[in-house]
Amino acid sequence: MKRILVTGGAGFIGSHLCARLVNDGHDVICLDNYFTGSKKNVWHLIGRPNFELVRHNVINPYFAEVDEIYNLACPASPVHYQFDPIKTTKTSVMGALNMLGLAKETKARLLQASTSEVYGDPIVHPQTESYWGHVNPIGIRSCYDEGKRCAESLCMDYHRQHGIEIKIIRIFNTYGPGMLPNDGRVVSNFIVQALQGNDLTIYGDGQQTRSFQYVDDLIEGMVRMMASPADFLGPVNLGNPHEFTILELAEKVIRLTGSRSKIAFRELPHDDPRQRQPDITLAREKLDYDPSTQLEEGLKHTIEYFRSLN
Ligand code: NAD
Ligand code: UDP
Repeated sequence: MKRILVTGGAGFIGSHLCARLVNDGHDVICLDNYFTGSKKNVWHLIGRPNFELVRHNVINPYFAEVDEIYNLACPASPVHYQFDPIKTTKTSVMGALNMLGLAKETKARLLQASTSEVYGDPIVHPQTESYWGHVNPIGIRSCYDEGKRCAESLCMDYHRQHGIEIKIIRIFNTYGPGMLPNDGRVVSNFIVQALQGNDLTIYGDGQQTRSFQYVDDLIEGMVRMMASPADFLGPVNLGNPHEFTILELAEKVIRLTGSRSKIAFRELPHDDPRQRQPDITLAREKLDYDPSTQLEEGLKHTIEYFRSLN
């Protein structure tokens, strides 16, 4: 049994991770300021003797004796991270600094939740970890992209300078039950719109691509990465390599929900990446990673979850 800190633990991915770690018998501290997360996401864990919920902003230092830290605190939906971009950068950079400081003090292993956004609007396709990316450093997405890039760089420097055991994962678009209806990301938007009989809002022409990973597959990859040998630092891509256009996603959601909704085209936001697909050779090789839930199956579970909210 380990003592594990999960920052951003009341968010979408964090709450799934906390549940997994609690069920595995670990002593889990979930740290969150509830910016985009909610106590409701971890309600079912409250009262479990090995679960503790703490309200805290990672911009400020935090201390607890822990063996492992999963650093997830950061809004992830473009709508949310662009709401207060300075705060987003602070959360990513100062959050990473504070958690790395804690790792140094307690000799804990730290896993940093990085993102496919470090590749920006990629020119190399699919994206391998060796690709340095194509990021606009001054655009509306840069608070998130550059914040996460800086966090990666801090992890590597803490490792080189202080010997901290770090792990970097680059998460590709992840969806599943537990997303907020007003999260703003494409999967939740489309399902909510379809269930309400409203138009599905496609930004641009819908020919941009994403590769969607079901949340359970990601959690398995995260746990495996944390448990991997100390000399494997990553970064490692965690995603499902099946690539779809946003138009294909909209059509699937309409079909699977049996909705009469139509598609409405809206303006494409600035710097919206044109295509994104992970090369997961490294994760397969090092972690035996196998994202086995395919899009239709994962969408069915997610649709069921959104239906149950009404
Ligand atoms: P989310 O917005 O649901 O969760 C983020 C959590 O962090 C929320 O509970 C929020 O309240 C908390 N938080 C934000 N700022 C904080 C602060 N200053 N102090 C403490 N807590 C704070 O998003 P998610 O999809 O669960 O993403 C979790 C992590 O995974 C993020 O770091 C994100 O960048 C990364 N990620 C997610 C995806 C994805 O597709 N979901 C893709 C790439 C990377
Ligand atoms: N998108 C869309 N309609 C929506 C929400 C998003 O067409 O209601 C598009 C968005 O422009 C992007 C893709 O879907 O091209 C994925 O967007 P999301 O915000 O989910 O994540 P991103 O990968 O851009 O961070």
